Amino acid sequence: MSVIALAGNQNSGKTTLYNKLTGSNQHVGNFPGVTIEKKEGQLKKHKDISIVDLPGIYSLSPYTMEEVVTRDFLLKKKPDLILNIVDATNIERNLYLTLQLMELSIPMVIALNMMDEVTASGNSIDVKKLSSHLGIPVVPISASKDEGIPELIDIVIRSIKENSSPKKHDFCFGEVHKAIHSISHLIADQAENAGYPPRFAATKLVEGDEPTFKSLEITENQKHIIEHVVKDMEEALETDREAALADMRYCYIEKICSESVVKKQETKEQQRSEKFDKILTHKYFGIPIFLGIMFFVFWMTFSVIGAPLQEFLEVVITAFTETISNALIRIGVSDWVYSLVINGIFVGVGSVLSFLPIIVVLFLFLSLLEDSGYMARVAFLMDKLLRKIGLSGRSFVPMLIGFGCSVPAIMATRTLASERDRKMTIVLTPFMSCSAKLPIYGMITVAFFPDNAALVMIGLYATGIVVAVLSGLLLKNTIFKGEPVPFVMELPAYRIPSRKSVLIHMWGKAKDFIQKAFTIIFLASIVIWFLQGFNWSFDMVEDSSKSMLAYIGSMVSPIFKPLGFNDWRASTALITGLTAKEAVVSTLSVLTGAVTDVQLSEVLFKIFTPLSAFAFLVFVLLYMPCVAAFAATKRELGSLRYAVLTALYQTVTAYAVGTLVYQIGSLFSGG
Ligand code: GDP
Ligand code: MG
Repeated sequence: MSVIALAGNQNSGKTTLYNKLTGSNQHVGNFPGVTIEKKEGQLKKHKDISIVDLPGIYSLSPYTMEEVVTRDFLLKKKPDLILNIVDATNIERNLYLTLQLMELSIPMVIALNMMDEVTASGNSIDVKKLSSHLGIPVVPISASKDEGIPELIDIVIRSIKENSSPKKHDFCFGEVHKAIHSISHLIADQAENAGYPPRFAATKLVEGDEPTFKSLEITENQKHIIEHVVKDMEEALETDREAALADMRYCYIEKICSESVVKKQETKEQQRSEKFDKILTHKYFGIPIFLGIMFFVFWMTFSVIGAPLQEFLEVVITAFTETISNALIRIGVSDWVYSLVINGIFVGVGSVLSFLPIIVVLFLFLSLLEDSGYMARVAFLMDKLLRKIGLSGRSFVPMLIGFGCSVPAIMATRTLASERDRKMTIVLTPFMSCSAKLPIYGMITVAFFPDNAALVMIGLYATGIVVAVLSGLLLKNTIFKGEPVPFVMELPAYRIPSRKSVLIHMWGKAKDFIQKAFTIIFLASIVIWFLQGFNWSFDMVEDSSKSMLAYIGSMVSPIFKPLGFNDWRASTALITGLTAKEAVVSTLSVLTGAVTDVQLSEVLFKIFTPLSAFAFLVFVLLYMPCVAAFAATKRELGSLRYAVLTALYQTVTAYAVGTLVYQIGSLFSGG
């Protein structure tokens, strides 16, 4: 079994090529950082060759999670061949990684991608010359246009058989050369033991790369010598160590390119992108334009396309429920079976499933924005603002999605480069008021603040944002110390999104969502149904106030005294709200036994005062998200413990802010 590692810069077309080579359907996006985890598949018609799609990187210095994954894989797993994919429209920048990969002494083939764009704009690359300079086979291809792939496969297979490493290039000279060579002698044995090629190890030590110091177990004494050598080099060259190596690599790249690349003009795509960016990333208009686009997307999703589809789906679900209900009655099933199926499973799963159209439509728009290359610009625009609360520009997109629903928002954190930024974003995103909370706001506002409805709504959304900002500051200075990763992102050229890629994207999200509805929501619905329909001796109860749920609710309710409400119905609603936030509304309605809005208001007035009703809303806004979001948190954080801690943090925050609202409010209202 041979293993090929697919390595290259972000957005160079790795995943597109991977899909072509393996026949799979991984998500391709015109947004740096789409492939976060490495993926493995088999070369078509060659079952004995497997291909690993690695996250895109710019260098072998491990700054981001992607770079760590890629570097670890290359150094520890030692693939049989590195297939280095190079974006021909950006060749200088891409070769920077190539030079580092060559130092790993692993057989290598270069796939020179996006040749379609190069030739279309009248530029050309002398592939033979490039190949002989580098001493590596170079194959011109276009992954998305399916050109040059068979030739590439032939050469890859031949190179695996020959198993010859790239010839050693001494492209360093002068002071850098001296430093690398003296250090490589010093640490040759240790490098061998750690499985590092000595030259690569020496280069990394000159750069001052911490992980290499650790893996090679460099002694204090050696460290001293290395630092001394490096200092001499820095003084002679009058630059710092990293810059010295970067200069050397770029010098060499320039030399190769001047002989093999003919670049008359930028590619058409690059020229077009520059024109677009003059407007879309404009210093003053950039953000307003973005807000306009997002407003349009949310409006289309929640009002124009999504809402009618959701209503339609609700009609279908209701009709289906009725059919089943009639069938159950005809068969004459016992009361509890009927209630379980209809009031438990159908109501529970159905209410969640009806959100499917909204999710799919939202992701249709977002993947269009992403695949066109626009989202990369937005992250760029937002970077400065988010940096103030300890996050980088990339965290912006998940937070935005959070206003729709926390579940896709939490999943969207996968595009973040650093683990620290990712975790912090997962914790903060649920503070963005999700759309499932709107019915609750609606219900309470109608009863208590009919004249100030808009004000209350805006107040709640703003509270969510303010709490997220304050939390960000708190976390940045405590648990998540450290800086957000430097935001280096090459802006990709704008491209027309491919239909296939958008469809794959949407289908992936829809599948996740449906799966969730039929697993977690399904189970949770059964449990809630059971608890609110039975008493402790497991007899079905007529009056739900005698149920187990009511009992649990009354045990919990005194906790909420500082927030101004102490009623088992309110606390029960908050508990059932954990299955899905909409359940707060249905629970309150069922438990109050009210039919009309007026009746409901009457009962609500017995439970809340206007002030405590607002505190209740604030609590609803901030407390731990629903099971689906909790499950997403667990999956993305990778551990139940962290997910529980996150939920606790959110709930404690909700409790504290709710209490603050009620207590301070009481002072003003005179008790
Ligand atoms: P990755 O980040 O390296 O995995 O890159 P992707 O495979 O996700 O591709 C990035 C973008 O480049 C996508 O918009 C692709 O459609 C586009 N792309 C990939 N290969 C080619 C190609 O050969 N020619 C052109 N014009 N575009 C390509
Ligand atoms: Mg990719």
